[in-house]
Amino acid sequence: ETVVNRIAAGEVIHRPSNALKELIENSLDAGATSIAITVKDGGMKMLQIQDNGHGIRTEDLAIVCERFTTSKLREYEDLSRIQTYGFRGEALASISHVAHLSITTKRADSECAYRASYADGRLAAAKGGGRSEPEPCAGNNGTTITAEDLFYNIRSRRDALRNTREEYSRIFEVASRYSIHNAGVAFTCRKAGAAKADLSTAQGATAIANIRQVFGGKVAGALVEFGQADEDLEVEFKGHVSSAAHEMHKTVFLLFINHRLVEHTPIRRAVEALYASILPKASRPFVYLDLRIRPERVDVNVHPTKREVRFLNEDAIIGRIVDCIHRRVLGTND
Ligand code: ADP
Ligand code: MG
Repeated sequence: ETVVNRIAAGEVIHRPSNALKELIENSLDAGATSIAITVKDGGMKMLQIQDNGHGIRTEDLAIVCERFTTSKLREYEDLSRIQTYGFRGEALASISHVAHLSITTKRADSECAYRASYADGRLAAAKGGGRSEPEPCAGNNGTTITAEDLFYNIRSRRDALRNTREEYSRIFEVASRYSIHNAGVAFTCRKAGAAKADLSTAQGATAIANIRQVFGGKVAGALVEFGQADEDLEVEFKGHVSSAAHEMHKTVFLLFINHRLVEHTPIRRAVEALYASILPKASRPFVYLDLRIRPERVDVNVHPTKREVRFLNEDAIIGRIVDCIHRRVLGTND
């Protein structure tokens, strides 16, 4: 049974950056305004995320790592919203099957923090020993989740992820993209022991300020803002894209659908084709696209942790996005 769970967990969590994405989304769901990420050996040795969100109830600590345990049914009455958001209670469970997981959490109304360790979906003794139950400890309001020794029990996965620089750069990419999309939240991302963070955004910043920090002033300075709401298709989108002034070495495409970082090859191709036709010099654009689609229209058959998603009326929606960018880049939208 454990092996089956471990294999299933490996399907959800492929590499450290997947785990981080899920953990960041949990912190955001908890209302965090500050998220600090610390990484050892590309996240293979340790991946830690500290937030100042609402914390986890002490009585819930025993069950948060059970599969399909989610507190979010209480908070989101619309079931389709839950499905499309990936609120399925699988992330912590999966991580606990493939890493040494520990959680320290404190709610504002609690006098102290509690720390718990997990293995295979259940409370377990901490790595250094001790009891298999939450223990009171000192701590700030919020939650710190630490995943250590990722894939310690899946040798093949560990071997495939030897390049810790590559894994760190994927982690940095996830952290920096979420910081752009959630510019109100302060993000830091650093290697353990490093004096200086590689990413450090201010609370209450703007998307463009964070794009500048991550991609540099040259990229940020050549972007134009676009956006539109469409009642027929029930979509809304906005973002920042390259203008005529822009020449990049490769396409950078940041796509968030309903606040989840995803891939969508047809949108990417359509936007690239647009640039190739109207601005051959900028045929590798920078695109940050924030797309909101009614949850009912997003295909729930695609596993939410998969990065590639599908939705209804794709061609029509892509058409609206491309038209909007087209008009904006050619300066006829004002
Ligand atoms: P889901 O996000 O789908 O509910 P997860 O496995 O990602 O499932 O998390 C399980 C539960 O653990 C969440 O529903 C939430 O109650 C709690 N949780 C996880 N991370 C945090 C966090 N950073 N702050 C507060 N609660 C959290
Ligand atoms: Mg989650």
